[in-house]
Amino acid sequence: MKLTVVGCGDAFGSGGRLQTCYHVASAGTHFLIDCGATALIGLQRLGIDPNSIETIFISHLHGDHYAGLVWWLIHAQHVAKRTTPLTVVGPASIEARFQIAAEALFPGSATVQRRFDLRFAEFMPETPLTMGPVSVTPYEVRHASGAPPYALRFQVGSKVLAFTGDTEWVESLVPAGSGADLFIMECYQFDGEPRFHMSWRTIAAQLERIGAKRVMLTHMASGMLDRRGEVTDPRCVLAEDGLVLGI
Ligand SMILES: [Zn+2]
Ligand SMILES: [Zn+2]
Repeated sequence: MKLTVVGCGDAFGSGGRLQTCYHVASAGTHFLIDCGATALIGLQRLGIDPNSIETIFISHLHGDHYAGLVWWLIHAQHVAKRTTPLTVVGPASIEARFQIAAEALFPGSATVQRRFDLRFAEFMPETPLTMGPVSVTPYEVRHASGAPPYALRFQVGSKVLAFTGDTEWVESLVPAGSGADLFIMECYQFDGEPRFHMSWRTIAAQLERIGAKRVMLTHMASGMLDRRGEVTDPRCVLAEDGLVLGI
């Protein structure tokens, strides 16, 4: 499994980082985890062909995690000339939230006759969903976004990749990340208990319980970025846009 960090920033461009988007290639399939507003910029920088991506999984319905779908679909229609099906999987109401965003930003774009099949599917909490060789199990977390937010646990073959999405600490993160080969964890602040987000102090106190083999800290605000050099736990990797990890 090959993970490429397309964007690992918060919603506010802290550190000049792009918004959340991860690209995964494994077992002949290619998928994205989250599609922030800057996703296409990141893919273009990295030379990743959007037409090669079969599925986009969305953790929660904040713009820095799903708004990139608006530009994605216009690009797919008019520039990339996509013909293969695309499936977008996310929280309840994802299709309606996408339609509203698309129509507000590019009127007519949500209702255009597409030359490719676009399908939406919704997560059911703690119910594994299979897309080809990928099995994903969503765990509900706590992060106000107008629809249930999820941590996502992906299994492809023998490898497990998990992602907290955005959330404050909740117990469901233990089964979501348990024993994962890589657990991507949002780490908004260095210490304290930020509302709807986590700090490094909170994460550090839970790492033993979770038991993930490696942890990637992501979605860092400027205060956390300034102090990220203080994270010395050997299990931890600090996310950077463009970072590629073999899992
Ligand atoms: Zn976010
Ligand atoms: Zn969020």
